[in-house]
Amino acid sequence: MLVIQGKGVSAGVAVGPLYFYRRAAQEIIRRIVGDTDAEWKRFEEASAVAAHQLGILAEKAREEAGDEAALLFETHQMMAEDMDFVDAVQGLIRDAALNAEAAVMDVSEQFAEMFSSMDDEYMQARAADIRDVAGRIVGILTGVVSGGIDSDVPVILASDDLAPSETIQMDKSKILGFITAGGSGSSHTAILARTMGIPAIIGVGDALKDEFEGRKLYIDGETGEIVIQADQLTAERMLTKQAKQQETRRMLSNLKGLPNETKDGQSIQIYCNIGSVEDVDAVIANDGGGIGLFRSEFLYLQGNTYPTEEEQFEAYRTVASLMKGKRVIIRTLDIGADKQADYFGLAKEENPAMGLRAIRICLSRPEIFKTQLRALYRASAYGKVAILFPMITSEWEVRECKRACLAVQQELKTEGIPFDPDTELGIMIETPAAVMMSDVLAELVDFFSVGTNDLTQYMLACDRQCDRLGKFFDPHHPAVLRAIRTVAENAHKAGKWIGICGELAADPTLTEAFLAMGIDELSVTPGSVLPLRHAIRNMDDPKARKRALKDLLEG
Ligand code: PEP
Ligand code: MG
Repeated sequence: MLVIQGKGVSAGVAVGPLYFYRRAAQEIIRRIVGDTDAEWKRFEEASAVAAHQLGILAEKAREEAGDEAALLFETHQMMAEDMDFVDAVQGLIRDAALNAEAAVMDVSEQFAEMFSSMDDEYMQARAADIRDVAGRIVGILTGVVSGGIDSDVPVILASDDLAPSETIQMDKSKILGFITAGGSGSSHTAILARTMGIPAIIGVGDALKDEFEGRKLYIDGETGEIVIQADQLTAERMLTKQAKQQETRRMLSNLKGLPNETKDGQSIQIYCNIGSVEDVDAVIANDGGGIGLFRSEFLYLQGNTYPTEEEQFEAYRTVASLMKGKRVIIRTLDIGADKQADYFGLAKEENPAMGLRAIRICLSRPEIFKTQLRALYRASAYGKVAILFPMITSEWEVRECKRACLAVQQELKTEGIPFDPDTELGIMIETPAAVMMSDVLAELVDFFSVGTNDLTQYMLACDRQCDRLGKFFDPHHPAVLRAIRTVAENAHKAGKWIGICGELAADPTLTEAFLAMGIDELSVTPGSVLPLRHAIRNMDDPKARKRALKDLLEG
């Protein structure tokens, strides 16, 4: 038996075979080939397989997400078969006797560079598409399965690290658990794992060896324990824990439909964080009171180009309608830092967490912002949508956001398109500047939502992505909790409401303190709604909650 200790970031026990995630970034060896006919045939076959795969993907996308989603794969299919592309590859194979993999990569780079240098934004975005298609063909040529999970049975997926865009694109029905070599608990991959209710362990370094692939693993996403070739005792212990978790889930499900109210009568809203339309099922299944944070940027990470107004409208409208009048807070694009989409063409930055990200991108690229705001306002006619702006530091940013909203409202009115003019507007409190300005900012908006992940990072000058900071990254630091209390006081003074949507919202050791601060809403991963409700419904002493808050504020 071998036990590996990592850091548990998404609770739950999972048992299944280990599978290593493989990326498209294959190492391509350049070779001069003797038989160019045979090499050309290799390319033709790989390209046909790629086109076939893309056709299947287009159909799958059509069934699951509609015609527009299918179009992306159809475009890729056309690119794989495009005569200019094929001719250029043929030229390199036949004339330069280059091996097929290298020829495909060279030609795709030439094409990508050509697209990137065009003035038209749409054409620039095609660079990422051609690289994607080339990566698929090369993957077939080299036999390396890119990204997808090539297994008939669900697996425990291991990787060095996973980008949020990789996580979001995976077939979740194939994943029992995640293990990553690096990563941090507040990385978006960890957040996604929790949203999907999938056990996850990070920070195992190079402990998982290639030869373990396919072996049966027992993992505990709470303790961070990974067991290979478990002895009978360990296997029984893990399975007993899994059974207990299932039992707890049954007990919690009896709380559905009941209020989040303490025995002495204080109540709080518990909403959910989601990253996609599909996550709404989990919100409804866990009786979430609303959506406190729809991270809309994941719509931007799913494809190779900007989601259109129609695509976004469809997603927001669906969520708003599914939630049947319950509040749905949709955050505008929060791209940048660890959430990167190549097609945005953002310059590499030394310090992306402090760079051109989130609202800074929206205010610098008004056409992107406007498309999203139009989609959001259009969706507001189908439910109770609220709009949330991320990474605010200054009053002028909020004023500009509001101006952009008014302009969109005006436009929709002129076009006769229905929307809710009373759509609430809120801002994320994620920076010390927003905390210090919260009295002024509260006058400008309808609500605050505290993003404790970034607030911790910026208050403590600790990179949330860095896995070496250990106890220095302390979300319970009194400075963070004092900041939240200040913001709550300023919100309430202005008659506004305040929620918390960072990971701290689900931390049961802070629930009493949040109630004592008078926080109005907590937005958590769907799986945390009922455990929090259970804890709140067992509280009965407001003085004890005040004491808990005082202790935490004093540190
Ligand atoms: C946060 O920063 O706490 C937050 C909720 O936003 P994100 O984690 O998406 O940056
Ligand atoms: Mg944030």
